[in-house]
Amino acid sequence: MNHDSVVKVQKIKAAVLRKKGGPLKIESLEMEGPRDEEVLVRLVASGICHTDIAFCDGWEEADNAVVLGHEGAGVVERVGKKVKNLKRGDPVVLSYQSCGRCRQCRSGHPAHCQHFYEANFGFQRLDGSNALQRSGVRGHFFGQSSFATHSLASERNLVKVSKDLPLEVLAPLGCGLQTGAGTVINSLGISKGASLAVFGTGAVGLAAVMAARLVGSHPIMGVDMKPKRLQLALQLGATHTIDNRRQDVAARIGDITGSGVDYVVETTASPQMHQLAIDVLNPHGVVALLTGESGTDSLPEGRKTIGIIQGDAVPQHFIPKLIELYKAGYFPFDRLLKFYDFGDINKAIADSKRGDTIKPVLRISEV
Ligand SMILES: [Zn+2]
Ligand SMILES: [Zn+2]
Repeated sequence: MNHDSVVKVQKIKAAVLRKKGGPLKIESLEMEGPRDEEVLVRLVASGICHTDIAFCDGWEEADNAVVLGHEGAGVVERVGKKVKNLKRGDPVVLSYQSCGRCRQCRSGHPAHCQHFYEANFGFQRLDGSNALQRSGVRGHFFGQSSFATHSLASERNLVKVSKDLPLEVLAPLGCGLQTGAGTVINSLGISKGASLAVFGTGAVGLAAVMAARLVGSHPIMGVDMKPKRLQLALQLGATHTIDNRRQDVAARIGDITGSGVDYVVETTASPQMHQLAIDVLNPHGVVALLTGESGTDSLPEGRKTIGIIQGDAVPQHFIPKLIELYKAGYFPFDRLLKFYDFGDINKAIADSKRGDTIKPVLRISEV
């Protein structure tokens, strides 16, 4: 072991998942680090993403307790010796982790990192170590585990931001919003006048709607079961909405476009919606699957489905771009947010599951 000669340890508080479905309990833990290439971040806020909730509900109780959270924002507290571009006091947004060494990472495509799964869902560093081992808990979720007062991240998943915007507003840019907007702008490259249907108008879907308005997609159809979310979709750029509990989605899309649709962004993970997305597609149309499935191009007339990770975004480029768009009024994602105290994390999760809150953000500490 040739990393740090002296092991640094700090006491932190974190929301720990010990049993399937929760509740998460805020506990005092000991965290080792930062190592030479790591950055210790004191978290100011963290968004809650659907993936956190999916892990919570799917957790096997035989596994070790874990700390979730992957939309952190905070202030750099300490940096390891090999960290070059960040220093104590820098405000940062945390995003997904990548290895930095594989071919995809080296060619500027970290969302396709060959070690993406281990780096984000391994609950350990890529070398197999775990900074929370002393407390018998596993962290490093998305290279951050941000449901905590402190995170260990790296230059690869930290984005330095300016001091003029509240970190609690910026926190959710690191996953959900980047994914929705990046899918439209980077992955699909939707051009002016192309038609789009967004299945599921949660945070990811609404980010796709806002980005679609930006690039001039038309029509932009929001599909959801919650009238309140559909109303918001209209305000954020959807030209039409379809309530899939009350309306026949395929028939409505046919009425609106006169044919099918050029692109579908599928965020619901429902097998019926997945099939419906293919059924309503124009020839050469594309379904973007944002739910972890991989795509297929064996569909007739050039149609295809593609699995997209993190909107193919390089966080250090894309998040500052989204912040600029937000400041200019073109990406008003603050309208999706609802703030909760860290101690109310279980209520925030419950509100999100019911669909009452689109994007919960936990307030963890003062700036
Ligand atoms: Zn990699
Ligand atoms: Zn996420």
